[in-house]
Amino acid sequence: EAKSQGRGRYVVYTPDMDRHGAEQARIAADLRVAMDTGQLHLVYQPIVAMAGGHLYGVEALIRWNHPQRGPVGPVDFIPAAERTGLIVPLGAWILGEACRQAVRWQQELGDRAPHTVSVNVSARQLREAGFATDVAAVLQQTGLAPDRLTIEVTETAVFDGGTALNELHAIKALGVTIALDDFGTGHSSLGLLRTCPVDTLKVDKSFVDDVTQGGQQAVVAEALIHLSNGLSLRAVAEGVETAEQADALYRLGYRYAQGYFYDRPMPAADLSARLSEPEMRLSRP
Ligand code: C2E
Ligand code: MG
Ligand code: MG
Ligand code: MG
Repeated sequence: EAKSQGRGRYVVYTPDMDRHGAEQARIAADLRVAMDTGQLHLVYQPIVAMAGGHLYGVEALIRWNHPQRGPVGPVDFIPAAERTGLIVPLGAWILGEACRQAVRWQQELGDRAPHTVSVNVSARQLREAGFATDVAAVLQQTGLAPDRLTIEVTETAVFDGGTALNELHAIKALGVTIALDDFGTGHSSLGLLRTCPVDTLKVDKSFVDDVTQGGQQAVVAEALIHLSNGLSLRAVAEGVETAEQADALYRLGYRYAQGYFYDRPMPAADLSARLSEPEMRLSRP
């Protein structure tokens, strides 16, 4: 079944179509309807503390169930949403929804609730004046404690301009956690780690993929854990798919990971059910 095939299953909007303005406009128009008619929902992927295999946090990821086209993946519509500016209202919805869910989990599960809920924020949102003020308002409205929210941004988004950095500092001042997503793949500058108030490095999947082969990517994975430890940042290895990768990463010093080996992204209710189980066997040992 298409759904079990992961990322590659989204074939409806091809990158080629993505380049065409008309198709972009159509995606954006459909997306606008989707926002108003409940075609969008969030799924949540566990971020795991590797040693005990228990849940540390979750990352919220958007899903679109298009009435005609079926599931459309974020890589196929987030770019269009960014270019058309629709990401601003869409992102606001995502942030509100994730914060509301985080509070629901705390009410339902108490200590077993995820410690933090991560929300992806695009460059366009970060450039929007008053973004940090919006984040503060959402926290206020939902009652979510700031330290229970993580904002994920890419290096490229932060590098983008001065206002992005100002907004991040303002968000950080609220007590929200900041994670650099896909770390090592963007317009990286180690200087960014001084100017950007970052707490967590999400080490990109490309460095995890062949970590067992001991090639160049593995060398980078090793360098990045040393860098993280040296700067007292939390490192999260992204896209861990096998036990061998998890073992190799652990030996290098990684303690947090996310990936299909542990769990796929799942609806909030599924995560609640898993976390309510007496044994709480969230992920493989
Ligand atoms: P990301 O933030 O780096 O999210 C991780 C992506 O890797 C997710 O894809 C997740 O499903 C996938 N993944 C997790 N573990 C594995 C694994 O072991 N193997 C493989 N092959 N993939 C894994 P997804 O959900 O398709 O999202 C793709 C990207 O779209 C995200 O990358 C993020 O950049 C963007 N995105 C997703 N949701 C949102 C959102 O709510 N807002 C914004 N602005 N961007 C979003
Ligand atoms: Mg992310
Ligand atoms: Mg990532
Ligand atoms: Mg990624």
